[in-house]
Amino acid sequence: MIDARGLVLLPGLICTHHHFFQTLTRALPRAQDAELFDWLVAHYPIWARLTPEAIRASTAVAIAELLLSGCTTAADHGYVWPNRARLDDQIAVAQEMGLRFHAARGSMSRGRSAGGLPPDEAVEDEAAILRDSERVIRAYHDPSRYAMTRIVLAPCSPFSVTAELMRASALLAREHDGVHLHTHLCETADEERYCLERYGVRPVEFAESLGWTGPDVWYAHAIFMSPQEFARLGRSRTGVAHCATSNMRLGSGIAPVLAQRDAGMRVGLGVDGSASNDGSHMLDEVRHAMLLQRVAHGAGAMSAREALRFATRGGAEVLGRDDVGALVPGMAADLIGVRADGLATAGGSVHDALASLVFCRIPNVDLSIVDGAVRVRDGRLVDVDVPGLVRRHARAARALTRP
Ligand SMILES: [Zn+2]
Repeated sequence: MIDARGLVLLPGLICTHHHFFQTLTRALPRAQDAELFDWLVAHYPIWARLTPEAIRASTAVAIAELLLSGCTTAADHGYVWPNRARLDDQIAVAQEMGLRFHAARGSMSRGRSAGGLPPDEAVEDEAAILRDSERVIRAYHDPSRYAMTRIVLAPCSPFSVTAELMRASALLAREHDGVHLHTHLCETADEERYCLERYGVRPVEFAESLGWTGPDVWYAHAIFMSPQEFARLGRSRTGVAHCATSNMRLGSGIAPVLAQRDAGMRVGLGVDGSASNDGSHMLDEVRHAMLLQRVAHGAGAMSAREALRFATRGGAEVLGRDDVGALVPGMAADLIGVRADGLATAGGSVHDALASLVFCRIPNVDLSIVDGAVRVRDGRLVDVDVPGLVRRHARAARALTRP
């Protein structure tokens, strides 16, 4: 029995796009004011020094932040795997901390010598990527309802892998029940130019030509897309992870998420980052998604309830789940509670306690339950030594930039 008097209860929030490893390079001075391509080029050589310990510490930090900010299910897109770092390192931490986890086996294969953006030491061989993708599917993927771990295949972007790897990843994923596909698409005008120059088509046409559309595919960002393109993607029920904070941070633009939703695309929210956010705060993301649509389309563009819908049922649809995202019988026991009588919503919760969770700025949730287990109680993680974790994470972060 949990005494939830004074709490607003919601289904746990769902994050559809993140890069846990990037918590190690938040606020990096040389990348603070850069746009996407320069930002990537500044980070790649640092990420090429990642180790298994760096992956584990950064995963723990991101999950701690996510749990405290209301997230109970998250997809992570790790795409740099040097020095024997493996997806297994992330899955072990997520299992230990109790997050419902969609682990994307991301990848980069086209280094600078092959016309790609990342340096050669940050990329992997394509045959090895596919072998490891199959290995992690067999070792960890659980297609059943209430699954705590699912695998996603996720080549990083059209400018860091080859068309062949995109095609082969889609074929491999579709050999297995419930293995979905994820990549970055249409994040910047630079990417559009790259696709036009290299392939002679726009990014969406390129993705379509590779078999990368459908109810088992979702893209991060989807900013530079035409109405004709999202009408087609809506018909195929392709999904979008909308990352408002990251899009603002990198000055990328405002994604047309409302029109994409109206066209039939599945839309969820993601904190992205962490080096382009630079936080993993899911309730903040809901707030920013609502505010950013208002910048583009006026105060009536998106309500607090619509923003929360994107972060709950919307996110569940994007990840292909019918067992999370709502508080109804038959759903997984994933729920969060926020005090309605605290400082953050004072004067708000008396009028509209639910909307206050989005309009007001909530520092963290007071209760979080994932798969029936209490993970946050009285605003604190029940089984994480946060100061110890932060010290460990700082050591790993310093090691990445040490000369
Ligand atoms: Zn991303």
